Amino acid sequence: MDAATITTPAVLILLGPPGAGKGTQARMLEDKFGLVQLSTGDLLRAAVAAGTEAGLAAKAVMESGGLVSDEIVIAILRDRLTQADCAKGVILDGFPRTTVQAQALDALLAETGQKINAAVSLEVEDAEMVTRIAGRYTCAGCGEGYHDTFKAPATEGECDKCGSTEFKRRADDNAETVASRLAAYHAQTAPLIDYYQGHGVLKRTNAMGSIQDIARDLEDIVRGAVK
Ligand code: AMP
Repeated sequence: MDAATITTPAVLILLGPPGAGKGTQARMLEDKFGLVQLSTGDLLRAAVAAGTEAGLAAKAVMESGGLVSDEIVIAILRDRLTQADCAKGVILDGFPRTTVQAQALDALLAETGQKINAAVSLEVEDAEMVTRIAGRYTCAGCGEGYHDTFKAPATEGECDKCGSTEFKRRADDNAETVASRLAAYHAQTAPLIDYYQGHGVLKRTNAMGSIQDIARDLEDIVRGAVK
């Protein structure tokens, strides 16, 4: 199946701790199936950079590795989800992260007669996450993700996708903040695995393998969930 055979607007959720590969995999699924990646982390970082009211409120919380308030995140997600391009279907990356957010998403989708096709739990070990996060960086031009150990650009210092020579690392990708982010995941987000199990849409995938292996598993899940 390719993008052309997705006939209903799909809603896919990627669940998993920081470093599990949600962003990388969401971008690959976006390219493969023509779905739109919605990352609340990216939306919040854009709000911080733009100095909006929501961005100002979120900045310190993000730097500490805690979760931004449900109210702010739900408002940002709602604004983005109602934009025209999302009608093709979306991959939610980093949302929902709390039960309140999951319930708000259900209500939002009910308004437009949509439903969640699959919530995929990317299953990984915490110890590995610290290594993954510490080495990651992105292209400043197009956002393509790289890693010191696992994924260097083919030509050193030059983005494979857009050729830019500028790269950036996230301010919150440091050892102390990663520990807080993992703790927030276990306390507030991991319960969503049961939530989606209860709703009959949970899929699990082992996300300790290579980027390509995980991508193949996810493609199979998407093919099965979106018909
Ligand atoms: P991420 O890019 O998904 O790792 O998110 C970076 C940071 O943004 C997180 O550590 C949180 O502080 C904040 N954030 C992103 N998404 C959410 C969300 N759904 N709920 C609360 N905070 C969020």
